[in-house]
Amino acid sequence: MNTVPTKSEDKKNASSRKISQGSQISNLRRALKNLEKLKGCSRSSEVCLETKDQNTFRTEALTPKCCIANLSTMLIEIAQLFSRYEIPYWLDGGSLLGIVREGGLLAWDRDIDFGFHAQDEHRIFEALSSEGKPHRSPQGDIGFVLQSGLFYVPNWGRDYGDRPAQIPRIYYSATNHLYADIYPYYRTLPGKFGIGRIGSFTFDIKEENILNLEYLKWRGKKILTPSDPESFLSQRFGDDWMTPDPNFYQKYPPHSDELKAKLNVL
Ligand SMILES: [Zn+2]
Repeated sequence: MNTVPTKSEDKKNASSRKISQGSQISNLRRALKNLEKLKGCSRSSEVCLETKDQNTFRTEALTPKCCIANLSTMLIEIAQLFSRYEIPYWLDGGSLLGIVREGGLLAWDRDIDFGFHAQDEHRIFEALSSEGKPHRSPQGDIGFVLQSGLFYVPNWGRDYGDRPAQIPRIYYSATNHLYADIYPYYRTLPGKFGIGRIGSFTFDIKEENILNLEYLKWRGKKILTPSDPESFLSQRFGDDWMTPDPNFYQKYPPHSDELKAKLNVL
């Protein structure tokens, strides 16, 4: 009985072992990828494609749960950051709408909105640049990576209408580009404030709403909002702000004329 393999059989076995190891490794890679997909995006990964890809605004109204969870984390981190430096800020736009109306971010939202008084901009820059490490992203964003991992870009470039909009933006991390836009408010009309730098001054808001701020408790944390947030939301979104519109992004795709008109930036 000859159990010793011939040289050619030996080679054959070795190469089939190699093939099976190779396919095991690629199976393992595939399994890891699936696992990552199940876990969703994180600070050390890129943001989910569904959130980044503007085409999905038209086809898939809902944002992946991981992105909503990470946006929620970021909302609290930024609120705490501003509080730590005693910089007045307030939750704004869709983030405020979601939290006041539904107790959490809107399931189809893709960013966080904050407002601040434009005159405080240098305070934000001084505070965040002093604790951050200078960084330029491959996409060309220039800013500071903070201790928490947040990536602060003092002069981010464009709005949903694809127009120049130099406003501060904070990314979830230098890698994960979920973001919060920090909108500067200026005095517009007597007794009114509006957002600057995103086209014409928009959403003229009564001064009493943002000269006085109030705290809202969310997930056990104190977040500043305009005073009388319900009246602020009426001024910002119209009197029907209590009625959800989950098809917002399908009706108003990014960069479309409909969205520009809706955002009042034409
Ligand atoms: Zn995600």
